[in-house]
Amino acid sequence: MVIWENNKALEQILQSELSKLTQEEGLEPERVYEGLDQGSMVVLGNPSHPHLRPLIIGQPARVKVNANLGTSPLNNCLNTEMDKVAAALAAGTDTIMDLSTAGDLDAIRQKMLEACPLPVGTVPIYAVGKSLLDSERDVAAMKADELFDEIAKQCRQGVDFITVHCGLSKRGAELALEQNRVLGIVSRGGSMLARWMVENNQENPLLADFDRLLAIVKPYNVTLSLGDGLRPGACADAGDAAQWEEVINLGQLAKYAHTRGVQCMIEGPGHMPLNLVQGQIQGIKRLTNNAPLYVLGPLVCDSTPGYDHIAGAIGGAIGVLNGVDFLCYLTPAEHLTLPDVEDVRAGVMASRVAAHAGELALGRQRALAREARMNHARKNLDWEGMAKEAVDPELLQKRRQSHKNEEVCAMCGKFCSVKMLRDIKIN
Ligand code: SF4
Repeated sequence: MVIWENNKALEQILQSELSKLTQEEGLEPERVYEGLDQGSMVVLGNPSHPHLRPLIIGQPARVKVNANLGTSPLNNCLNTEMDKVAAALAAGTDTIMDLSTAGDLDAIRQKMLEACPLPVGTVPIYAVGKSLLDSERDVAAMKADELFDEIAKQCRQGVDFITVHCGLSKRGAELALEQNRVLGIVSRGGSMLARWMVENNQENPLLADFDRLLAIVKPYNVTLSLGDGLRPGACADAGDAAQWEEVINLGQLAKYAHTRGVQCMIEGPGHMPLNLVQGQIQGIKRLTNNAPLYVLGPLVCDSTPGYDHIAGAIGGAIGVLNGVDFLCYLTPAEHLTLPDVEDVRAGVMASRVAAHAGELALGRQRALAREARMNHARKNLDWEGMAKEAVDPELLQKRRQSHKNEEVCAMCGKFCSVKMLRDIKIN
């Protein structure tokens, strides 16, 4: 049975939205059906999300970009987060994730769902962790029901995709803790589940009771973003046994979920040096049957606080070239603080640059055509044409402002080489 026949909510979305989606992507509907059937594409969209525009993820569909938003205990202002939603939308993000861990999480999520017509993702274990900490209970005291109930609530609310660390096994957690990693487990959800498993000497409930999870999310077509709880948090930790053990589990879970009518993406690393990106991405894609790969970075060096969006974009571009389908942004605030509005904008732009660079290297038609239009405009000193093709037209206009009436720009002025040779005739 093909997946949409086994998932009524997905089938309805395809019936009403597929022709618009395929037109936007420049793909034939058959190509999308093939991708969905093979599990190499997903359509994000929970019918309970008001005013939602569903989205295809999975190459050769356009590579998408996500912006992480949300409160933290040290920075907890709903209005600021809503400003960041607006900034992310204006900068051209394709999805947002609400990673809030402070304040009224249900109300924040509701607001974001109402304000954002793009797919919204969450990490439900954060809400469970907050409620445990608020009631001064140890994370190890969590009841499996609390986690499943939270997931069910968020599905009803309209969340479109959720990060769930189902592939993080007790053995994987022990491997990561035994292996003297430089930075141990850096995933928040992963570290909570690892603590729970080790303290209780029990298997991860999301893994042990995977069928329960599938039954909860399927009626809402909530896509599982199978989390990388053991991703390397330092380049020196990339590619160890704990990381690969989890990747193998993720591949098996994604395959199983697909047979049960639930769509899955795979979350990827993490920190790794540039020379490992190609092998890691290709290896993950192979072990997960080419499921859509959603990566944070990869960050290709560790000593770049303030510039981690650049370190992530370098890894992201190489990642896209090797099969990454979905880039989670990093901002200049990564590893330091919550991003502000400007950081959000810079992060989305950096990821969009990475996506475009990767797609250009892959020879994707839309990327090649855009470059051709940009170069045509450059050759003609057509600044409006350049703004139309620029990743960030607003920045282009701002930079041109002081000399906007000049035909050339202030870089070379009268020495403009484009103009110098424009009218020359070769005999
Ligand atoms: S002035 Fe220099 S940088 Fe500006 S358009 Fe001409 S050649 Fe390009």
